[in-house]
Amino acid sequence: MRIKYLYLLIILITSCTSLSKSKSPSYCSFPENSPYPGGLINYSLNTERKYLEKNLRVKDLEFSICKELGSPKSLLIPIPLTFEEDRVSIFFSDQLISSIDIESRDYRESRITISNQDFVSPPNAMLERIKEEYSQSISAKNVFNLKKNTSKEMIIPLEGIMSSEYGVKRFINEQPRNRHIGLDIAAAEGRPIFAPLNGKVILAGNFFYKGNVIFIDHGNGLVSSYSHLSKKLVDLNQIVTAGDNIGLVGSTGRVTGPHLHWEVYFLGIPINPEIFIKN
Ligand SMILES: [Zn+2]
Repeated sequence: MRIKYLYLLIILITSCTSLSKSKSPSYCSFPENSPYPGGLINYSLNTERKYLEKNLRVKDLEFSICKELGSPKSLLIPIPLTFEEDRVSIFFSDQLISSIDIESRDYRESRITISNQDFVSPPNAMLERIKEEYSQSISAKNVFNLKKNTSKEMIIPLEGIMSSEYGVKRFINEQPRNRHIGLDIAAAEGRPIFAPLNGKVILAGNFFYKGNVIFIDHGNGLVSSYSHLSKKLVDLNQIVTAGDNIGLVGSTGRVTGPHLHWEVYFLGIPINPEIFIKN
């Protein structure tokens, strides 16, 4: 008799978990709406209405339509760090369906000193190499491979200290430089770096500025990169699973100490990696 009850209980528990699984939050509800420069708008479409995808339009910005079970669920709109408008308009055909306020963000300034002059103004002999590496990076970050129902939730790729956040306005030897479009995590040389999400290695090289670098395509326009590694542990075209050890912390390329420089791109636009981290 007791065994019978136990069976009943097990059946009840498993049917409840499968019920909660089928109701689990959608892939398209992540990342959360973060409407600021360097963030990403996640606009939920009204499911009561039928939207023809080709008639959806976002003024001034790139966007992608997130679908579940074949039907459009939300618009994902990455906002460049340099975006200066205070709202973003979404249209269906010629009808305005939403106008989203863009919040302002105060990104701090950072001043660093680099004594190796080659990294401040690279010698002419290096310019060709830098140009080629730049164009390889551009191609990698713009990769778009359609993948059905994939999560965008990432685990942190390295345990360490966040030494420079995304968006910082940088000055090298008092000269204004490009904004910091990644997140720096400082850790001891040789510490393992993990793939934060499933994907495929689409670029692996040794670059002048980035040092040993890996780019991973996670599908649907989401790409991430890992710079300054002491060692790469994956090869080009290798499929990686979240949690795989892809490389080791190092100080190759232009650095002031061992750390990981982590970038996350969506539709080719560098976005604050923090918004993709689970919890
Ligand atoms: Zn960095």
